Amino acid sequence: MSEKKLRLGTLCVQGGWQPKRGEPRVVPIYQSTTFKYETSEQMARLFDLADSGYFYTRLQNPTNDAVAAKITTLEGGVAGMLTSSGQAANFYAVFNLCSAGDHFVSAGAIYGGTFNLFSVTLKKLGIEVTFVDQDAPEEEIIAAFRPNTKLLFGETLANPAVSVLDIEKMARIAHGQGVPLVVDNTFPTPINCRPFEWGADIVTHSTTKYLDGHATAVGGAIVDSGNFDWKKYADKFPGLTTPDESYHGLTYTEAFGPAAYIVKATAQLMRDLGSIQAPMNAFLVNAGIETLHLRMRQHCDNALKVAQYLQSRTDKVAWVNYPGLPGDKYHALAQKYMPTGTCGVLSFGLKGGREESIRFMDSLKLTSIVTHVADTRTSVLHPASHTHRQLTDEQLKEAGVPADLIRFSVGIEDPEDILFDIQQALDGNS
Ligand code: PLP
Repeated sequence: MSEKKLRLGTLCVQGGWQPKRGEPRVVPIYQSTTFKYETSEQMARLFDLADSGYFYTRLQNPTNDAVAAKITTLEGGVAGMLTSSGQAANFYAVFNLCSAGDHFVSAGAIYGGTFNLFSVTLKKLGIEVTFVDQDAPEEEIIAAFRPNTKLLFGETLANPAVSVLDIEKMARIAHGQGVPLVVDNTFPTPINCRPFEWGADIVTHSTTKYLDGHATAVGGAIVDSGNFDWKKYADKFPGLTTPDESYHGLTYTEAFGPAAYIVKATAQLMRDLGSIQAPMNAFLVNAGIETLHLRMRQHCDNALKVAQYLQSRTDKVAWVNYPGLPGDKYHALAQKYMPTGTCGVLSFGLKGGREESIRFMDSLKLTSIVTHVADTRTSVLHPASHTHRQLTDEQLKEAGVPADLIRFSVGIEDPEDILFDIQQALDGNS
């Protein structure tokens, strides 16, 4: 089967696992840490990366590889890998290019956990970040670059502000500075946005969200477009373009061509840090992706109805952010990059601020208060009190998260029931 010619809906169902004669139709869970060989020489060649093959699940596992291959084809990339979480995916995506003494630039409007990873934990490793306003003019963003800057990072649809990244603009800036654009495409998923088509070089995912879609398995993924020319900027990326002594002097760009970035992340980072996704979780993610194209449509349809309803309740609702709404600040960018829809997440503020928000949330019945977003069930969260509570007021502002922001993740239940729940909670507030 030639996967390149197939449409997204078909790839969701059939991409990745291609069984041969007599093999299981459904991707099996290879619940084995280890894999058998006949000779010592065969095993030695695997350790030298001279042959490809499975030897230890921390490095690679057939279930994980099949699911990574599905996500890679959906994104239109050349190589991909799964990680234990979205946090691990974003950590590896950056750490695969940056060492102590390096710097990178990131949009400030990103998930609170990623913001913390970048500003606190990477700093402890000697890697510095500069946060920028992704909507700022190009010159302003370019001014944040330094000679030791290694990448530009952003979220295609930011969590929780649901701002839309101008991917072409960011790719132009990154490439003008000789570095790749890395984007987290968790919220729109490849069903609604394919960042490589707009110039992004590396895509990351929290598969925990829509890809799994049922809130059953924490996981992450990294996909490489294969388009960034590491050799052109060899001085900036010695980890890819000069010999790796821990693999007998092998040079990733020479040995693996467009797959160099993912092979390096697997061979070095998985080997040494070990944030592998459990094969069982990969199996669950795969089952989720089989209906991704159907679920995303319903999430978007329902979210637009909710956004319109909230917008009509001017008596209670102060503001609504949903890029699918005509008139939204990001509507034009959403139409360009995500013409089939954005996602099920929207944010809004109530008249009466933080106190009203909490009363509203506590009055919801069908909608549950959970940390999670982007699964089948409608859920709600107050980021300033929950996911982003570690951020200072200044950092909250940088992350585009006002204190009154309610994050609403619209599920795929019957929209009438979701709307009724919101209405009764709003009206119960008076
Ligand atoms: N990226 C985005 C956009 C997210 O929303 C999240 C989590 O909410 C993450 C990354 C982190 O993913 P995980 O919770 O799977 O570690």
